[in-house]
Amino acid sequence: MIDKKKIIDRFISYIKIDTQSDPESKTTPSTEKQWDLARKLAEELAEMGMEEVSIDENAYVMASLPANVSHQVPVIGFISHFDTSPDFNATNINPQIIEDYDGKDIVLNKEHDIVLSSEYFDDLKQYKGQTLITTDGTSLLSADDKAGITEIMTAMQYLLEHPEIPHGKIRVGFTPDEEIGRGAHKFDVKKFGAEWAYTMDGSQIGELEFENFNAAKAVISVRGKGVHPGYAKDKMINSQYIAVDFINSLPRLETPEHTEDRQGFFHLSDMKGAVEETILEYIIRDHDLNQFEARKQMMQDLASEICSQYNSDCIAVEITDQYFNMREKIEPVMHIVNLAEKAMEAVNVKPLLKPIRGGTDGAQLSYMGLPCPNIFAGGHNFHGKYEYVPVESMQKATEVIVKLAELTSEEFKENDL
Ligand SMILES: [Zn+2]
Repeated sequence: MIDKKKIIDRFISYIKIDTQSDPESKTTPSTEKQWDLARKLAEELAEMGMEEVSIDENAYVMASLPANVSHQVPVIGFISHFDTSPDFNATNINPQIIEDYDGKDIVLNKEHDIVLSSEYFDDLKQYKGQTLITTDGTSLLSADDKAGITEIMTAMQYLLEHPEIPHGKIRVGFTPDEEIGRGAHKFDVKKFGAEWAYTMDGSQIGELEFENFNAAKAVISVRGKGVHPGYAKDKMINSQYIAVDFINSLPRLETPEHTEDRQGFFHLSDMKGAVEETILEYIIRDHDLNQFEARKQMMQDLASEICSQYNSDCIAVEITDQYFNMREKIEPVMHIVNLAEKAMEAVNVKPLLKPIRGGTDGAQLSYMGLPCPNIFAGGHNFHGKYEYVPVESMQKATEVIVKLAELTSEEFKENDL
């Protein structure tokens, strides 16, 4: 059994270190302060007896737990990110520990009347009787993803202290800048040297994800012709009306607020307009690659159609792919998802398989040659003051890592026979 107090202490020691990333920065890591936790993790890994501990010039931390069995087992890895979201205050995090949670509202901050409501956030109710860690309402908690780091570190320590549990070689990797979309960019997949890995970066207990969106962004530039309004007859072309035509010609119900599960969408994220020029910014999302391509084509066709009505090339469409659904890379190696399911069931966690309506570092890593599904880390309401994590979920995630190490070894032992 994984010790609860040790999990809490470790988690708190990590969230006390401010590691907020910065999308405006061009460096890696994007903020100097991320080095503080990167160095601490490297030190702790070495101290606990991990091998091949390294920290590179971009602050990526890696380490190995050597195999303790003689048969051939594929090297597997566990990955999480140590930066925290720039969306909300991440300095001076002051956690509250609520033992034996009663299922009711939690007052985060009396002075500012900030309440974590169990009616509004009804996921809370399933944790009645458990130990919750919340914020004090003035910052985020950074369980995303210091919960994941805590779980990987605790699992490695546990395996080192329990050599009777058989396992192959395990690699661990901690990355900067995931929250600004750059966590995988400089990840050295070759140096990591694992056959596959898992990011510990999901939310509620049981989550197991191997599908995410295909993603592109589109910038639509509409050009008009500005003329003095008093003399504009048959001369003025108001780009804003053309832009509105474009917007209204896309399927109105295929937008984020009307879609769920595997339904894709067009999302108008920004518009700026004047008579002369209107710029629309869209993101395009779809799990299905064919439909994703069809959506991009639809935008191009629509632009040509409207242009032909106005007898000019008044609309320019610029579409850039952002990331792709990892399902394509995971399906040929589905046993790695099945193993994770088995590991969860073995520690009495019900696997919740669901498509991610977003992206993940694992998707990028999967396309870089490291198939990488995502496993729950346990937290809820990421990136804001209502973030919380049940300690029991962190315990279970740690057990899942330990079990995965063991099951992978067992699986390949059977294959040898
Ligand atoms: Zn995360």
